[in-house]
Amino acid sequence: MPNSTIKTIRIKRGKEKQLVRHHPWVFSGAIENIEKMPDACEQNAEDSIKSHTVRVEDSDHQFIAYGWYDEKSHIALRLLSWDEQVFPDSRWWKSMIIAAIRRRYDWFGQKGRATNMFRLIHGEADMLPGFAIDIYKHIVVIQISARVAWAVRPTAVEAVEQALRPQTIMVNVDSDLRRVEHLESSVEYYCKGILVEPPEIVHQIDCMESGLLYRLNVRSSQKTGHYCDQRENRIKVAQFAKNLKVLDLFCYTGGFTLHCLKSLCLSVDSVDSSDYALGQLEENIRLNVQNGRLPADSGNRVTLTKGDCFEVLRSIETDVYDMIIIDPPKLAPNRSHVEQAERAYKDLNRLAMLKVKKGGYIATFSCSGAINREKFALILSWAAKDAKKEVHIVSVLGQPNDHPIRLSFPESEYLKGFILQVL
Ligand code: SAH
Repeated sequence: MPNSTIKTIRIKRGKEKQLVRHHPWVFSGAIENIEKMPDACEQNAEDSIKSHTVRVEDSDHQFIAYGWYDEKSHIALRLLSWDEQVFPDSRWWKSMIIAAIRRRYDWFGQKGRATNMFRLIHGEADMLPGFAIDIYKHIVVIQISARVAWAVRPTAVEAVEQALRPQTIMVNVDSDLRRVEHLESSVEYYCKGILVEPPEIVHQIDCMESGLLYRLNVRSSQKTGHYCDQRENRIKVAQFAKNLKVLDLFCYTGGFTLHCLKSLCLSVDSVDSSDYALGQLEENIRLNVQNGRLPADSGNRVTLTKGDCFEVLRSIETDVYDMIIIDPPKLAPNRSHVEQAERAYKDLNRLAMLKVKKGGYIATFSCSGAINREKFALILSWAAKDAKKEVHIVSVLGQPNDHPIRLSFPESEYLKGFILQVL
């Protein structure tokens, strides 16, 4: 239990409604009393937990939750525990991380499975703000996107070490949020829980997802290395691909491309703006053919193009492709980008609806948390109207079980997808 030195933060009248329903984010405008604190990222984990964990009350002094207050963060207060008897000290952080890993253990933990890369911690959806933790075979990558997570990372390393004993734990800072969270770009490696110099060998690793091999470089790749969140959608999309001519836009290292090849598509043209991604995709095709996991002619059925997908969609001929896959990066990283992102999603999908063959498919995704599923469907309907097409949704796609959606935090439903058929 906390002692009497713990600071109290009061929420302005009327601003507590979502918070009592366990929404974890409080922006500074909702806070009555702003407190000055030492810099959490310059303290050791134990001290920063002591100085930054606050009691949060409504304007009538009723307890709402314990939270982490840090005026340097773009989300000043992050609520952690709504039980007055459960104070989020370092033991709490450790037990929450271990519990989240245990919840998933049956899904990823068994030997001989066809998938050995997986999300272990999904941030606020697991009640752990600022932490995305993925496992790649024997490497665990902890990606930090909030100051609180940077401050408590030694505790997180301890918890992961205790739960899984991986060969290496790598900690890095999410480049999308580094600036708004005032964090340094930094990479750390831990072996047996102890901070070590960067070991050369850990960067490249061959992992498996749904029976296909991916050669990843956890140091130079995007996010933590692989987009595990599309695992199930790759299978569902590829089920439509047999004998089709496919265009895989924003292909990265080939998640959808490899599955379409496996499903015996006629051909797949894969486009991305990143040299690194295309290089890895080429390597992944070679690796899978060599290991008998993809048909021997796979290399002849695929073309790789470096380019801007918006331009590619504008320039391709009409009626060439039977299926177009559109999996762009997060076009609305936050609420201020929503309008611009809506235009971009509409443009991509309108062009795809115009260009795809009659009766063809579009597998389209948005991973912007700031645009919900209903809004995304509305954007697609605007695109269909402008393209003057009738369009069916033939499949609704979302997030896999290692990226759970927390009911009290709708923002955790960030990946929305549809397989559309253009009539
Ligand atoms: N579909 C992939 C994940 C896509 S991530 C998978 O299944 O793994 C988004 C990708 O879009 C990244 O690889 C990034 O390099 C690429 N990208 C971002 N903007 C782009 C643009 N304008 N044109 C082409 N590629 C782009």
